Amino acid sequence: MSTRQEVLDRLTSLRLHQQRGRRAPHKPLLVLLALGQLTEVGSSELPWSQAQERLSDLITEFGPTSKTGRAQSAAYPFTRLRSDRVWTLNRDVPMDLVGPLAAHDVVGRFDAATETALRHEPELVRQVARVLVEQHFPPTIAPDVLTAAGLDPDDILQAPGVVPVPRRRRDASWRVAVLQAWDRQCAFCGYDGQLGNASVGVEAAHVRWWAFDGPDSADNGLALCVLHHKLFDFGALGLDGDLRIEVSAAFTARTPAGRSTYDLHGRMLRPRPGTQAPAVEHISWHRREVFKGESLAA
Ligand SMILES: [Zn+2]
Repeated sequence: MSTRQEVLDRLTSLRLHQQRGRRAPHKPLLVLLALGQLTEVGSSELPWSQAQERLSDLITEFGPTSKTGRAQSAAYPFTRLRSDRVWTLNRDVPMDLVGPLAAHDVVGRFDAATETALRHEPELVRQVARVLVEQHFPPTIAPDVLTAAGLDPDDILQAPGVVPVPRRRRDASWRVAVLQAWDRQCAFCGYDGQLGNASVGVEAAHVRWWAFDGPDSADNGLALCVLHHKLFDFGALGLDGDLRIEVSAAFTARTPAGRSTYDLHGRMLRPRPGTQAPAVEHISWHRREVFKGESLAA
């Protein structure tokens, strides 16, 4: 029998192939998917035939760009989560191989003790989901990740009494300083809406995510409108080393409003005199870990 604390510890300290600063969201996304399944149907059981599609969608949408095939990217966490002592398969198959998973439609699920603890305590489900999503994604994306995994973001992100202990101290003045440095307007499109005297819809964005050691520093911040903040954190927008905006070739839109995003491609950031531009090292991190693949041809 696992205690509540053991289950929480195991599920939130997964062994990740994560060197410093590298994103490895595969296992956390599988845990979130299984939590969604458990919440929805009362069991975390996921046959490979169902899990493969949903898990590779999650990894493609929310993970870093990878050359690994879709099924392969899902087989990795589906087999390897066993080593964290929270996940079992109904057949002993080798690590990482798609073939045996597909041939037998292997079923994965939380191990009995973990599932019992989670089923008896919905609060534990919320807590695990919240810690995992905040460990691996910025606040702009967390609700989308939870929704895609079949979980209710309002329930999980606003549940009282589940505030994870922050690993580092935040600088409360950073947001204000970033907005001021960029003249309270979106560094990409120039949007500068105000309601009365207050900016509305303009936010301070980290270039290198806070959850991945991105500092609260002037050279890691941009003022962005809520739309461009979200597109930047999703990797639909990026920056090159010369501070030019890049639009991912994976981004598509049909209407004029959506297609206006293409016009940002190639535009230079123009910080006012005295404003620090994002540091090359933070831009490089974003390009490697967040930006979705190739940019539009110039
Ligand atoms: Zn904007």
